[in-house]
Amino acid sequence: MYSMFEGVNASEGIGIGKVVLAVEPDLSFEPHEVEDAAAEKARYQQALEVFCQKTEAQAERMKVTVGENEAEIMSGHIMLAQDPGLVDGINTAIDGGACAEKALVDTSTMFENMFLAMDDEMFRLRAADIADIRTGILAELLGKDVVDLSVLPAGSIVVVHDLTPSMTATIDKENVAGVVTEVGGRTSHSAIIARALEIPAVLSVPNACGALLNGTTVIVDGINGHVINDPDEQMLEDYQKRADAFAEEKHALEAFRGKPTVTADGDKKVLACNIGNPEDAKGAVDHDAEAIGLFRSEFLFMDAKELPSEDEQFEAYRKVAVTLKGAPVIIRTLDVGGDKEIPYLKLQKEDNPFMGYRAVRYCLDNADEYKVQLRALLRASAFGDIKIMVPLVTCVEELRQVKALVEECKAELATEGYKYNENIEVGIMMETAAAANIADILAEEAAFFSIGTNDLTGYTMASDRGNDKVSYLYSWYYPAVLRAIKNIIVNGVKAGIMVGMCGEAAADPLLTPLLISWGMEEFSVSAPSVLKTRKAISQWTKSDADALEAKVMQLKTADEVKAALEEAAR
Ligand code: PEP
Ligand code: MG
Repeated sequence: MYSMFEGVNASEGIGIGKVVLAVEPDLSFEPHEVEDAAAEKARYQQALEVFCQKTEAQAERMKVTVGENEAEIMSGHIMLAQDPGLVDGINTAIDGGACAEKALVDTSTMFENMFLAMDDEMFRLRAADIADIRTGILAELLGKDVVDLSVLPAGSIVVVHDLTPSMTATIDKENVAGVVTEVGGRTSHSAIIARALEIPAVLSVPNACGALLNGTTVIVDGINGHVINDPDEQMLEDYQKRADAFAEEKHALEAFRGKPTVTADGDKKVLACNIGNPEDAKGAVDHDAEAIGLFRSEFLFMDAKELPSEDEQFEAYRKVAVTLKGAPVIIRTLDVGGDKEIPYLKLQKEDNPFMGYRAVRYCLDNADEYKVQLRALLRASAFGDIKIMVPLVTCVEELRQVKALVEECKAELATEGYKYNENIEVGIMMETAAAANIADILAEEAAFFSIGTNDLTGYTMASDRGNDKVSYLYSWYYPAVLRAIKNIIVNGVKAGIMVGMCGEAAADPLLTPLLISWGMEEFSVSAPSVLKTRKAISQWTKSDADALEAKVMQLKTADEVKAALEEAAR
């Protein structure tokens, strides 16, 4: 008998497949004395060989699915696991009576600590590799499966507590039919990643890892936020039909590929893309984006083990600028804190992280670190149309301080003989209630605005974007949020600066007429939403949009607003 679970519809599409539970295995063991050291060493050797074979297969697959560089990291693991120093150490411990598990843990921990104590970055990276290898070989010895998202059978439904950015670096997206998580809302990073990978996803399904069993057939309905466990034949047939209809609709959108983004009366708009790393830039261009409206630079920091250097950042930003061939690229400076953790920055735990020491607040307080990023951005600006965007601004003082630092960096780079765009634009991510209220003041000093509705909705409604209990308040259909958005656009337009939107609301076709009515210029959406958004824009004339705006802005509740927008969209 089937059962149905409800969650958050985080990434559109319907996936049908078999559950692969991505739960960390329990690798605890009872150490025991061994008498037959030769047999124990052979047991270790056997586990090591299996580990190496699996890792080799993983590296081969990753070459195709992820890239040569990432695959090389896996090949490096094999060499390290076979390192004579490590192997000898383990054999000696077994000769001394230790079981293979204990010999492995003790010896590898000794090497790990030794690497950790070294100053050189290369050696510290080795320490992390040693820890990975230990997990892999220990799992072999204990006969446990380590979940490896880089090698999955076709049609896998990945069920995981949370989908982290590091997991997605290796995920084998060709074979993933759907994702189910236990935490995360529509604008959580798991959701953003799933949409970027175009994998149907339902998030925040309570106890999904306990309720969905490995190998059972599951339907992930990312359109309605349903997960159907063990469906019957009739259901499978129905959902297959819906999946086909979804694919057909997607195919029909191809008519908008290569077309300009214009309203029904020919007003030109910019359709940009949100990206998380330099490799995504190509995907954005392939999906027909005209610009990058938001490069979330914190992913560069989250994927690293320590602060990326100026050269590393420069390379990443330059790569995006070059890929976009002169089209605008808005790069947001480090947006750390809130739900974005960067462990090596060692930020203290706070009672209220979303209102705490984060984003521009952290950056201005660590100006030397911030200048590394600003210098890298300036240097990369010599290779394309890079614009700098400051997150979480609440007052004009913050913008002034950032601009002063940019000027300082320019002076330094000029003395050092570097090229950069002298007129680089510094704009603001409009995502706090404070910024929305002083949009007129900020518009005088910002080069552009980009509305971050993910946070703006949360801050305006005082509703945490990741908290299910208050998610009914987290909606941009509330008049409070619509007025905040309107105030930002209208004041930006009045001041003559570019106003865009990079929050998820930019891809909501119901909002499109309002944004057109207020005069918004740039829509920045995830790659798979580019064509859909171009279509939505093409359906509205300014006068129709104005008439709807006048009606909707009189309404008092979110439900009334949504109903009126839905009615108009029909
Ligand atoms: C936003 O807040 O709307 C936004 C685009 O940024 P992020 O989702 O990274 O906070
Ligand atoms: Mg934000």
